[in-house]
Amino acid sequence: MEEQRKIISKIDSEIIKLLAERRDLSREIISLKNENQSLIRDKSREKELLTKLVELGKKAGLDSYFVTKVFHEIIDDSIQLQNKIVLDKDNLDSSSTSKVVAIQGIEGSYSYLASQKFFGDSKDEIAFKYKESFEDVVKAVESDEADYAMLPVENTTSGSINDVYDAIIGSQLSIVGEEIFHVKHCLVGINEIALNKIKKIYTHIQAARQCNKFLSGIKSASVEYFIDTAQSVQKIKEEKNPHYAAVASEEAADLYDVIILRENIANQPGNFTRFLVCANEPITVDTRIPAKTSLIMATSHKPGSLVEALSIFRDLGINMTKLQSRPIIGNPWEEMFYLDFIGNAKDSNVKQLLDKLGKHVRFLRVLGCYPSKDVDRIKVNVPLQTEEEIHQDEATPPSKEKESKPKAKVSYKLASREYKSDDTLVKAGNVTIGGDNFVVIAGPCSVESKEQIMACAREAKENYAQILRGGCFKPHTSPYSFQGLGYDALKYLKDAGRAYELPVITEVLTINQVSRVAEHSDILQVGARNMQNFALLSEVGKSLRPVMLQRGMMSSLDELLNAAEYILAKGNRQVILCERGIRTFETATRNTLDLGAIPVLKEQTHLPIIVDPSHAMGQRDKVIPLAKAAKAVGAHGIMVEIHPEPDNALSDGPQSLYFNQFKNLMSELAKM
Ligand code: PEP
Ligand code: MN
Repeated sequence: MEEQRKIISKIDSEIIKLLAERRDLSREIISLKNENQSLIRDKSREKELLTKLVELGKKAGLDSYFVTKVFHEIIDDSIQLQNKIVLDKDNLDSSSTSKVVAIQGIEGSYSYLASQKFFGDSKDEIAFKYKESFEDVVKAVESDEADYAMLPVENTTSGSINDVYDAIIGSQLSIVGEEIFHVKHCLVGINEIALNKIKKIYTHIQAARQCNKFLSGIKSASVEYFIDTAQSVQKIKEEKNPHYAAVASEEAADLYDVIILRENIANQPGNFTRFLVCANEPITVDTRIPAKTSLIMATSHKPGSLVEALSIFRDLGINMTKLQSRPIIGNPWEEMFYLDFIGNAKDSNVKQLLDKLGKHVRFLRVLGCYPSKDVDRIKVNVPLQTEEEIHQDEATPPSKEKESKPKAKVSYKLASREYKSDDTLVKAGNVTIGGDNFVVIAGPCSVESKEQIMACAREAKENYAQILRGGCFKPHTSPYSFQGLGYDALKYLKDAGRAYELPVITEVLTINQVSRVAEHSDILQVGARNMQNFALLSEVGKSLRPVMLQRGMMSSLDELLNAAEYILAKGNRQVILCERGIRTFETATRNTLDLGAIPVLKEQTHLPIIVDPSHAMGQRDKVIPLAKAAKAVGAHGIMVEIHPEPDNALSDGPQSLYFNQFKNLMSELAKM
């Protein structure tokens, strides 16, 4: 082993050297780009590069997902580096070489870690000023004690941090940057200890909110707040009581040399905090760098004035990313609005926006324009997107005859095209279902084990499927058939989806499963056997998760749309319909796939429609032609069952595709 380890270490240092060399070239390139003012990003070149690398990786036996992930990081780094060079060239005060950053909290707090990430690249040392409150952080910059304030404004679990908005609104500081930090809370202690023996937990109020589900499970402990997570760690070090614990980052645990008792204890893994970096002077951002602008405004006190102000954004095609209202101190029931939008203060439409807004407000101040942290990642040539130019020229314009045909009276409203003419686009993770997209959902009928669902996830990802399916609760005809592994399966499914960055879908059978499944699954499926379980429909209608509604095997399209109406009427407007075959006199196939339903539904409803050829056909060797037919007839996607060993599957083995068949299916679809 010694020998191999030596070689691995050598390879690793080689990789580091190469990355540094690559960065140097990146620096050379940006000065050339600056000379002729060419774009910083060349997306078509990036795409070409990634596609070639994936091909190369495949030949060398590397998963395309792995290669893409590694090179996304490398390309992101290069873009960030080039952006920063351009930014510094325009803004850097050459006399200052050190940066003093004021934060709320101390070394090891999340503000500290986010500052290191934000300023980490620069050669200058960063020094910190540790403050007790956000207001003090702001004051430190105003009084020139510090150059920058690093302020957490919002978190994906606990929401907006109002004190920070108030501190920014009340100051004259400019926003000069943003940072997105992945906050991974841990429970830490000075000794190993069983959770139910913990008596006290120190933490920060925001951290406590983000982990309240985990914390409320430790019944023996009371929770006490500190001004930041790092200080709560310091406190347990000082008190030396083995029954005391704290919530903080892994870095803080390292720094203060305490033991991690549990990792990742936030309510959701996607726990991110957005920080704003503020300074006394605004910066200018080269228009080649994607930028955001922030402002505060107070609209006038008359009906519709907020609508009028917001409609200016719409008319100019400016995308707002945040709208937060804060009370105006001293003026009861009056509000100040804080807004972020995508755009550069130098853009002509942003100039127009500010001009026009000015006429509708009582107060308006631009807080700053700064580079946006969201890097738009290039997708590798997904075969499904590189469609040949097969134009359906013969598509007939809407005929007079059709227009004049009297409309049959329908008993649903929200699901109808009359109510909403634009296609509904349903988002699950970063996948959009509906419109012109064709989405493939793949996975086993039932989640049978960690390994099985992981293998399916990998296969789905490698072949560019976008969503992972897997049944956890199975509605089987016979009570003696496999009923699913329940919540254990849900955990395996979620972990597999996360490992391969695939949103997941699973079926809910009962009302009381809905909220718990919705915590972990990106889409809820209501199965064919439950299509008219109106109580269940109402319950998923209250959920914030998208719902895929399978057509019942004896249901008409009118009944399907009325079932969808139950969900929509409860508030959930993210419904996907699924045609999965109906019962007819024909017994040669498991069900009869009603392909005619697709164009009819597309006329009657704005909701996206997925086709499930697996349950319709029941025999794996005939799934491919049916899937192609679904695409040809205009479905927004398909859902297919795949299995690493279909012959040993615990459910629906005969219709589950072998992995090589699935690969074949995906390339057939890509040709269409
Ligand atoms: C399934 O997706 O495994 C399933 C049971 O679907 P349906 O409700 O369409 O039969
Ligand atoms: Mn099935």
